[in-house]
Parts: sequence; C-alpha cells; structure tokens
Amino acid sequence: MPEAVVVGGGIGGLTAAIALRRIGWSVEVLEQAAELKEVGAGLSLATNAMRALDELGIGDRVREHAAFSQVTGNQRLPSGRYLRRFREGRDVPLAAFHRAELHRVLLGELPGDVIRTGRRVTAVPYADLVVAADGVHSTFRNLLWDAPQPRRRYTAWRGVAEGVEVEGSFTLGRGRYFMIHPLPGGRACWALGSRADGPEAVRTWHEPIPELLAATETVLRNEILDLGPLPSYVHGNVVLLGDAAHAVTPDLGQGACQAIEDAVTLAAALRDEPVPAALARYDRERLPRTRMIAHTARRKGETAVSPNPLVHGLVALTTRWLPEAAVRRSTARVWDWSPPRLS
Ligand SMILES: Cc1cc2nc3c(=O)[nH]c(=O)nc-3n(C[C@H](O)[C@H](O)[C@H](O)COP(=O)(O)OP(=O)(O)OC[C@H]3O[C@@H](n4cnc5c(N)ncnc54)[C@H](O)[C@@H]3O)c2cc1C
Repeated sequence: MPEAVVVGGGIGGLTAAIALRRIGWSVEVLEQAAELKEVGAGLSLATNAMRALDELGIGDRVREHAAFSQVTGNQRLPSGRYLRRFREGRDVPLAAFHRAELHRVLLGELPGDVIRTGRRVTAVPYADLVVAADGVHSTFRNLLWDAPQPRRRYTAWRGVAEGVEVEGSFTLGRGRYFMIHPLPGGRACWALGSRADGPEAVRTWHEPIPELLAATETVLRNEILDLGPLPSYVHGNVVLLGDAAHAVTPDLGQGACQAIEDAVTLAAALRDEPVPAALARYDRERLPRTRMIAHTARRKGETAVSPNPLVHGLVALTTRWLPEAAVRRSTARVWDWSPPRLS
C-alpha cells in the first residue's frame, strides 16, 4: 500500500488525509501542536468546497454543524441601509461553521492512530508522498522553494457571540468592513477587517453589530497575509497544499475551500496515475485556479479596506447597481467548480 505523510493537521491536512485514505493510501498526519484544535472563530464554506466534501462522502455529516448564511445577498452600509438584500433562488447561501466544530468533524473521519501530535517536522520524511499542509508560514515551502514571504495586507478582528439570532450580512464602511454569519445554537461569528483601528470604530454602526461585540467574550486579532504566486506546488515527491501553497486574503471566503479542493484533486490524480504524473496533473489543475482566487481576493480586499472615499463610494454604487448577470458571472468563477470523481 502506498504511504503518505501529511505535515500539518489543519483543515487542509485533515481533508488531504481523508481523501488519500479514500483512494486506499496509508496516511500519517504529523502535527507540531501538542493538541489538535482550531481557534474560537467562524468560517464559511461555499458550494465548491461542499461539493468536494460530498465527493469524499462526508458532506452531510459536515452540514449537520453548519448554519446557512445569507451574507452573499445582504450587503449593507454602516447606517444599516441595504445595498442589496438576500433573495431566495437568486443568492446562494454559504455554510457557516464554528472552526473548532468543523475541525472536530474532519478529525472524527480519521482513525486515532493516523494523527501524531507534538511532532514538528523540519526535514523531508521518508514516504512515497509528502503533503506539506503546514500553513502560511510553511517550513517546507521555505526549505524547498525559493518562495517570497507572505505579505501583510490588513488586520482582522474576529469573535463568536453567544445568545444572538442574526442573519448573515456584510457591511461596507470607509476603510473597514464587518461580516456576520449565524452559527448553530443561537451563536454568531463576526469578522472586522481594517488597516487601522479595531472594534471601537464600529460600535456606532447598525445593529446587531454593537450587540454582537457586547456578546463576545474573546476577540482574536490576526494580521491578514497572502502569498505571491509560486511557479509550482511540487518538488520531487513533496507537494504543497492549502495555505502553504497559496495563502489568500479572506475576502472571497475561499482559503479553506481551496485547501479542500486541493485535497480532492490530489487524491483523484493519485488514484489514476503514478506519483510524478499525478503531481504534474495537480499542478496543472491547481495553479491557475488558486492564482485566480488569490488575485481576485486581494483586489477585493484592497477596495474593501480602502480609506479613499471615492473607492468606497464606487464599491457601494457597484454593489447596489451591478446587473444580476454580472454578479452571477463573478461568483460562478469561484463557486461553480466541481470536484473530480473519486469513486
Ligand atoms: C480572518 C480569517 C477569516 C477566514 N475566513 C475564511 C472563510 O470564511 N472561508 C474559508 O474557506 N477560509 C477562510 N479563511 C482561510 C482559512 O482559515 C485558511 O485558508 C485555512 O484554515 C488553511 O488551512 P491549512 O490546513 O492550509 O493551514 P493551517 O490551518 O494553518 O494548518 C497548518 C497546520 O500545520 C501545523 N504545522 C505548521 N508547521 C508544522 C511543522 N513544521 N510540523 C508539523 N506541523 C506543522 C500547524 O500547527 C497547523 O496545525 C480565513 C482566514 C482568516 C485569517
């Protein structure tokens, strides 16, 4: 049986391990942390990632932990005015999760002996294939690739609020945005993106923003980084996957979605072909798509946190008046992806 070592037990590494086991590989996941867990914040998965999870046979088990977020349709201004409102049949909801819960479901799909925690990997392990899913600061990318370092784009503050009932929405302010997703169990997760100030600046924005901030115990602060394009995700039998390969800004909500796409694409290629040909196919399929996503997300983020009133006004106008067909075209490029067949 061919053997793979997956370095990193994040969403990308766990999904890769599930996918490789599905095609009959033996897999070991090496994770540096003493305990496997995700941070206390939320994230959404779009239809492209959910289709990939369906192909792995775990979509329905994952959906049990999701709330459906109308963020894709509800676009607002800080006053509360709607630029667009979610319309059933026109706007596609996203599946929103507490990160820890999504991570736990993925972990539950793997036998306990597959995961080794407390194992920081600093050299290429011996295996038929090494999947480097070791995140945006990837040791493997630094070791084997002549790659640029990730760049800081802006700052995000995030939290999970308890005891609230909200609908998903995205509020565009000048120089900052505020995004809300409902979560199962009367909770909500939120994210504020800005180049300057944190939550204080949005306390006077429309409800439920002040209510969410008041109902949040812990606020996380992260620098938003992304990675310039790499010429290849493959070096010998080592393959980069997820943020290690193509960390993107969160402006399309696609970082984890792309890691999940990577995992299913890699497994499908390895099912059909020997390792070198499969990795060449992975590169052919993943490079153009992940570059397009990274580029689009970066551009969207630049305008979303721009302090320039003209840029803000233009984005608000476009959001309000862009014809349906154009909105559909731009989202279709991201969401209409279908996974290769695994079965
Ligand atoms: C504010 C914010 C909001 C986001 N929102 C969304 C969203 O709504 N939807 C979406 O799809 N994506 C979103 N993302 C992106 C998403 O979180 C990431 O793309 C995704 O979690 C990346 O997963 P990964 O497994 O590639 O990397 P990581 O989650 O970073 O996992 C890497 C793992 O590797 C381990 N590791 C690192 N080095 C080593 C080593 N040398 N040896 C062993 N283990 C190692 C780490 O400990 C870690 O567990 C968001 C990101 C941010 C910052």
